Amino acid sequence: MEKFYKDTFEFSDETKKYALSRIKSILTALGCSYSCTYCYVSSLIDNLREAYSEVGVRPPSIIQDRLLETVIQEGEEILALDDIYGVKTTAVFDQADISLNNMKWWDQLKNQWLDRVRIPFYIQARPAMLAGKKGKERIEMISDKGLVAGISMAIESGNPKIRKLLLDRHENNNTILDAIHNVKDSNIPLRTQSIIGLPVLRPSQVVNPIQSKLSLIDKDGEEFYYDDPIQESLTCLELVCTSNFGKEDYYWNALYSPFPGTPLGDYAVAAGFADDDTDAHAYQFTTDSGLTCFSGITLKRQIAFSQTSNFFAHFKNGKDLMVLFLYGNNEFQLSDFAEFVETRAEFFKPHERPTQFGIISNIDRNMLLNFFDEAYPDTEKRFKSINIKLVDYYMALLDGLVLAAKIADKYYEYKEQEKEFTLADLYRVERIHYYDNSYNMAYIPERFENFLRPLIHDSRAPAMRTG
Ligand code: SF4
Repeated sequence: MEKFYKDTFEFSDETKKYALSRIKSILTALGCSYSCTYCYVSSLIDNLREAYSEVGVRPPSIIQDRLLETVIQEGEEILALDDIYGVKTTAVFDQADISLNNMKWWDQLKNQWLDRVRIPFYIQARPAMLAGKKGKERIEMISDKGLVAGISMAIESGNPKIRKLLLDRHENNNTILDAIHNVKDSNIPLRTQSIIGLPVLRPSQVVNPIQSKLSLIDKDGEEFYYDDPIQESLTCLELVCTSNFGKEDYYWNALYSPFPGTPLGDYAVAAGFADDDTDAHAYQFTTDSGLTCFSGITLKRQIAFSQTSNFFAHFKNGKDLMVLFLYGNNEFQLSDFAEFVETRAEFFKPHERPTQFGIISNIDRNMLLNFFDEAYPDTEKRFKSINIKLVDYYMALLDGLVLAAKIADKYYEYKEQEKEFTLADLYRVERIHYYDNSYNMAYIPERFENFLRPLIHDSRAPAMRTG
């Protein structure tokens, strides 16, 4: 670990960021026993099964916990590196595909980690691991004494049939809701994950069963295709909107891009939804659909969905609001979104649970309006008026005033570079704002420190950095 950070620090200015980052990575376990069709892990499991099929022996488990002492020593190395590079690491991201497989292991790790390292983990877990009585016990164990600062949980689709038939994920919606409920009971920031633009259309050609066995027709012959793929994306948003999702929680999403060799990637090609062009597709979730079957207004809506769904997830009626936004507009520029927020605010039904997170809690509209007066002089009238229209956007999200300041900061940075600030930029700043909170890296932008600092009442304020 030390060598990695030393090498990357010395290699270039660009790679210095790894050592200087306040979030570091650790692996608590290797492998995963699930076989989600969009993930490269499923191909590893298939390969293993195939390799062992003729030997008559069960393939070995591909999940391995790492040695406890090794993980703790890596934590101590991170602390030592902090001294060398003059940073304070605030969270370690557990890069295990899924954490919490082995609770005995976590139980043994806990006290030693808290004694010797004390940096909170950020973990990824499956809904089934977080749901029910067992899930509650798991979450209570890891949330105690701040061992875990945040949890990321993939849902992918809100339609159980799509999850099962297309993604090979078998939890039902109640399990997902129960998992969210348990996480929120322990007051840990949650990041739900969904995929937008899955290949849910009826295939334009007959799928060759040699190329792919996936199908959206179940064993009773019932079909689950969508004519409008947006309707499928809305199912996950609706599910999360009905949960007790809080202000501190983030609705992460990405547009689907097929990875060749995965069952879903092969299906997308066999169904005529994607080119069989391995060079064109890396395993990545992109800002544009990786499928060729979406175009025109559908593609525009998918991108707008991706850029605004975290905002809508924070309302009980977020799905209906998203429908109004996507089907009531043909263009989805920042000004269109701001116009929507201003004119439809009376219909917004926010979740009422107060949050304990954020640097400047309990803001009101006047505080935002005063900030816009401070941040935007007459020369910036246009962007100021967009921000005024966005007041209910800031009110709905975590630490809205600090978010408004980060947006203003980025706006001025772009202005110097003669770049326009777009809806995609709003989405990016908003996403990083949520990451900052879940990795204990919340900060106020230096440019607005004089205005914002007197408003901080949070007990964590003295530790807050500006940046
Ligand atoms: S997506 Fe996650 S849970 Fe599914 S197979 Fe891949 S690593 Fe495992």
